[in-house]
Amino acid sequence: MSVHHHIHPEGVKIIIVGAGICGLMTAIQLERAGMDYVVFEKAKECLPLGSALSLTPACSYIFDQLGMLEDIQSVSLPCQKIDYVRDDLSKVGTMDAGNNKERYGYNGILITRPAFYDILLSRVPAHKIHWGKRILNFEQNQYGVMIRVADNSTHHADILIGADGAYSAVRQTLYKSMLKKGLTVPKSDLAPLHFNSNCVIGVTDVLSEEEFPVLKDRTGDFHVIIGKERSIQVYLFTFAESRIGWQICGKMENPEDHDEQNFRFSDWGPVAADDLCDQVRHYQCPFGGTLGDLMDRTPKERLSKVMLEDKYFHTWWHLRTVLMGDACHKHLPFGGQGANQAILDSVHLVNQLYAIPSGSLEDVAKSFKAYHANRSPNARDVYKSTGMVANILGSRGLGSDTLRSLTLSKTPKWLNEMGMDGMNSERPVLCFLPPPNVHPTVKGKPQAVPVHYKQLLKVKGIRGASSIFSLASA
Ligand SMILES: Cc1cc2nc3c(=O)[nH]c(=O)nc-3n(C[C@H](O)[C@H](O)[C@H](O)COP(=O)(O)OP(=O)(O)OC[C@H]3O[C@@H](n4cnc5c(N)ncnc54)[C@H](O)[C@@H]3O)c2cc1C
Repeated sequence: MSVHHHIHPEGVKIIIVGAGICGLMTAIQLERAGMDYVVFEKAKECLPLGSALSLTPACSYIFDQLGMLEDIQSVSLPCQKIDYVRDDLSKVGTMDAGNNKERYGYNGILITRPAFYDILLSRVPAHKIHWGKRILNFEQNQYGVMIRVADNSTHHADILIGADGAYSAVRQTLYKSMLKKGLTVPKSDLAPLHFNSNCVIGVTDVLSEEEFPVLKDRTGDFHVIIGKERSIQVYLFTFAESRIGWQICGKMENPEDHDEQNFRFSDWGPVAADDLCDQVRHYQCPFGGTLGDLMDRTPKERLSKVMLEDKYFHTWWHLRTVLMGDACHKHLPFGGQGANQAILDSVHLVNQLYAIPSGSLEDVAKSFKAYHANRSPNARDVYKSTGMVANILGSRGLGSDTLRSLTLSKTPKWLNEMGMDGMNSERPVLCFLPPPNVHPTVKGKPQAVPVHYKQLLKVKGIRGASSIFSLASA
């Protein structure tokens, strides 16, 4: 594959805070763009935490462009439907994604977070990631940005990217500094993250196909059990490496007892079993036996618990600092959108940065403004629809049960497809790599030309990739 290499103006230095999915995806793309970046991550090493990630067709456009798709497909399964059942295993309905490839170019992907994370890590040169570096705060002005790390070191750059998750230190410092200067930050941006549910996640040991014949199917279709008594949902996934993943999400009885300050359990980490597990142990498992059987096959280090927060932030950048991923929009996991949205952010931002002519404040600010303008409407829509899915799945009572059945089994095909088309319309591609060779029947939303791109084409005479933007720039 030919790569449109382009040498960047000397001196545009980028610091990424956070080596989560968002930070690493950004690093991989900046690497391919030949740009000067470095990643700071607070964790001392990466832990194989987390369970399932379901990645939408849109992400595969980028994986394909970056030459990662085959590696990802070899350790994942295509996801073509989601089955919803009650806790007696009676059917509620199905969400069909069987024609994603034909309509949107690729199938959805079900992969374990550790498997995906390993692939991402393998694509970033080891010396570009600094582990065990917790960013405390930063300062920025017209000339540059300086971060302070907990080990007392400081580092300078032209651009600071906050990809440091829901409790982003970059975001908190950014907002504080804006307020200090008398700038407006919307009230809702300053309020704590909202949460009312928690979640326990486990991944079993490798299981035998004799004992769990479902593993023979080799599909990444997943199951959702909707609990009757309490607002509990259990998600079940079968993974390519013959493990079963389970995820229990339950509304907390007294969420008002907790807030960001006195109960901060936002970090994913191994935990002891939880009372949420006890409440669903007896549920029948659609793969045979009970959920308790799966829990008993789950080693402790593959168990984690996390608070389920959600929040959309309106302020994404100021001066030389920009936010992405969970740092500016934290989704509930019910729509499976957290990682997808983070990946789409990274494509939009890297396209803007690729075209940036210099590290001057004016150029940087123009890029960030365009990134926010192009990316945020879709991120906000998805945030809203994830909240709606959470409500449909989380409410209890006869009326809710009927509504769920109607939504999941009685919706006409055309209406279903209209919804799916909307969800899959945002499919940005990287402007500096050849577009993927797919021909979906449903076209994606035209992509805006990165703000400095036309100028770049003129100056550098780069051709080829410009065809991607023929629609938008015509
Ligand atoms: C260990 C882990 C397991 C997860 N498991 C699942 C799962 O099973 N299913 C699911 O749907 N979602 C899971 N998620 C969440 C999901 O990955 C994210 O919602 C999504 O990928 C968006 O990622 P992000 O990169 O924006 O944020 P995150 O994934 O939260 O990554 C942020 C990164 O920044 C680092 N960081 C934070 N503060 C600082 C600081 N001050 N200085 C330096 N570094 C800092 C964090 O250690 C982390 O590596 C998990 C996240 C993590 C971190």
